[in-house]
Amino acid sequence: MIVELVCVGTELLLGNIVNTNAAYLAEMCARLGLSMYYQSVVGDNEERMTQVIAQAVDRSDVVILCGGLGPTQDDLTKEVTAKVMGMKLVEDEHTRNCIQEYMNNLFVGRPDAKITDNNWKQALVPEGALILDNANGTAPGLIIEENGKIVILLPGPPNELKPMFENQVYPYLREKQPEVILSRMIKICGIGESAVEDKIQDMIDAQNNPTIATYAKTGEVHLRVTARAESEAEAKKMIKPVVRELKVRFGKNIYTTDEHKTLEECVIDLLKDQELELTTVESCTGGALAARLVNVPGASDVLKQGLVTYSNKSKRKFTLVKKSTLKDEGAVSHKTAKEMAKGAVENTGCDVSVSVTGLAGPNGGTKEKPVGLVYIGCCYKGKTTVREFHFNGNRSKVREQAVVQGLVLLRDCILENYVNE
Ligand code: ATP
Repeated sequence: MIVELVCVGTELLLGNIVNTNAAYLAEMCARLGLSMYYQSVVGDNEERMTQVIAQAVDRSDVVILCGGLGPTQDDLTKEVTAKVMGMKLVEDEHTRNCIQEYMNNLFVGRPDAKITDNNWKQALVPEGALILDNANGTAPGLIIEENGKIVILLPGPPNELKPMFENQVYPYLREKQPEVILSRMIKICGIGESAVEDKIQDMIDAQNNPTIATYAKTGEVHLRVTARAESEAEAKKMIKPVVRELKVRFGKNIYTTDEHKTLEECVIDLLKDQELELTTVESCTGGALAARLVNVPGASDVLKQGLVTYSNKSKRKFTLVKKSTLKDEGAVSHKTAKEMAKGAVENTGCDVSVSVTGLAGPNGGTKEKPVGLVYIGCCYKGKTTVREFHFNGNRSKVREQAVVQGLVLLRDCILENYVNE
């Protein structure tokens, strides 16, 4: 089936908001095995919306529209779609009740608040459309099946769109697909995107079914292997040798094959598994590495403290960095990162530490020490390993990359000394 995406909203055209819904929906459609040939963005203008929607319905089997389902005058998606499809708008009692219930909850403790007339506009639906309840807002989603075409209308706010898509639209589209689409995710760290592609160029060149899609993330590369088959068992059989081959080629660089696991979760699991207590000691990342670990529920079992030693004085006091090191080598140096990591273990009694010191910019860089230079250290089992990085990008990008590489180094050092119980 050919699917087409139309995102509605003048604010998208003006660049006021980033079209994250398009990226999300495109990825979900790819996962469903739908072929997406076109995507468009159109402002809240009736004439232009009519043209874009009519064209999309004409050339594609499934059209997904997002945005413009709200209660205000400029929210026209439903009205224009109904016109294009030759359908009448009628009030839906169930939706009216849902809106009433949602607003009652919203108005708790606000006795003067009232539902405005334009809210009821959202209870109007094209006659015969399937209604998708919205647990996080008042605009219902809609699925229209007419003349062999499917048109799906979704609200713009991502917190409304995503659960609606995942819980209601995804299963609906899956049923419409005659084939089973199955995919496996391989998450890789410690090796860049071009090196990953280089290692599997032959597999990419030869791919047909299953396919291998590469997604570059900050400091990570994700590979999605997708197979289409007549049955789930057959799809699984097709995917298996490809995943096995990827495991052979990337070995320990694969940190998980679980779609929902993050790098920090895997690092926390590893620390728990090896019964290790960790301390972080950060300069340019200012606690971001500790914060990322704290995202994982249960991090307190292993993360004992996160030190932010931003000044030279605090580096000396809390991590025992030598005065001479700071004077001779500077705060951003291999030696400082090493002493920070080592001192943190000595001072806290933890089993393992990870240290970060670098130049996030935009100022402060020199020819010898340019912006983006970051040293990351890890002290474990009496050995301190330090890696030097030259990151590109602005201040936040440099800091973000440093956090990921901190997790990668920590993971590598633990794996190097992995104890099998
Ligand atoms: P509402 O009832 O909130 O008006 P709506 O369905 O009418 O919902 P829009 O008015 O088009 O949706 O957008 C509401 C908000 O949703 C936007 O201000 C923006 O924050 C977010 N949004 C809309 N479209 C997108 C998109 N394509 N990508 C990311 N965010 C979006």
